[in-house]
Amino acid sequence: MSATSGFLLKALIIMMLLQLPLYASDSGHAPDTIPVPNIQIWNIDSHIYKKLPKGAIYDRTSPQIPRDLLDLIEFIREWYPRLREQLWTDETLKTDAKIDIFLRHKDENDPEALAHTTSTDSLIIYDGYLKGLKHKSGGLIIHELTHLLQSRYRQEGFRRPIWISEALADYQRFTSFEAFTFEMYLKRTSEAIKHKNIEKHFIDKTCVVYDEDNPCPTFWEEGYSYSYQPIHTAGMLVMIEHRFPGTVKKIHRRMHDSVKDSFDFFNKEFSDYLYSETGKGLQQNWCEYLAYVDNKTEEEVLQDCLPKVGWLWRWLQ
Ligand SMILES: [Zn+2]
Repeated sequence: MSATSGFLLKALIIMMLLQLPLYASDSGHAPDTIPVPNIQIWNIDSHIYKKLPKGAIYDRTSPQIPRDLLDLIEFIREWYPRLREQLWTDETLKTDAKIDIFLRHKDENDPEALAHTTSTDSLIIYDGYLKGLKHKSGGLIIHELTHLLQSRYRQEGFRRPIWISEALADYQRFTSFEAFTFEMYLKRTSEAIKHKNIEKHFIDKTCVVYDEDNPCPTFWEEGYSYSYQPIHTAGMLVMIEHRFPGTVKKIHRRMHDSVKDSFDFFNKEFSDYLYSETGKGLQQNWCEYLAYVDNKTEEEVLQDCLPKVGWLWRWLQ
């Protein structure tokens, strides 16, 4: 064995013992120039754009492209690089070069769906959203573009929580694009609790198997995992981001790295990660967010959400 390979082998063993990642970490810094993707729109079977021949492809140079679709292209050309910069990872994404958008009438399996990202990182937009497109704010598109940036981990739902992907997408939508303040998030969650029966919706969607020993978790306990209405978890992320700026970007990168470097990152690992970044785990951060929703003062929030483990809790009992 040569001196060089001996050194490399020892370095490798030390890295494995210390559980250091074997891959170089991302630089974490976006370059000065962010790519602007080419955007192509394919009319598959939209009823809104009936006059566009099925299968026809349009880009921003096509003379026949309807005005609202041209505006959509320009909107994505403006916002994709902004979001890419905010959620930068060094790895090149397919959508850095090209984004295909398919216009469809509706999703047969989910007729209420307005848009989806596909497993091949294309974007499907349904007539439910295309109707009156020029009056739409674009918030939904921001949510979907964030999903395209999550390409590495979005497909790994069984080992990477979907609810984190959804909450990050709503965070970008409401904080970066719709300029929501923390109070606006609190109001949305408060309304969902008081007037929109979210507790029942949460249990209907999430409580599949339960018995006396395994009672259903309530929205108050595990509502952060409610991926059908991710705005509430996005609100929790805003609270964390106010206290520890940069955490949202770090969560995105951690999700990305968990796939790149093959480690599990589910609720427990996410909670441990939050603890290492904020000194509080997932349950406690969620409790504190809901205490703010409940109009508690900062002091009361901290009091209400003392971790119910450890000597301090036992001593307080
Ligand atoms: Zn989504």
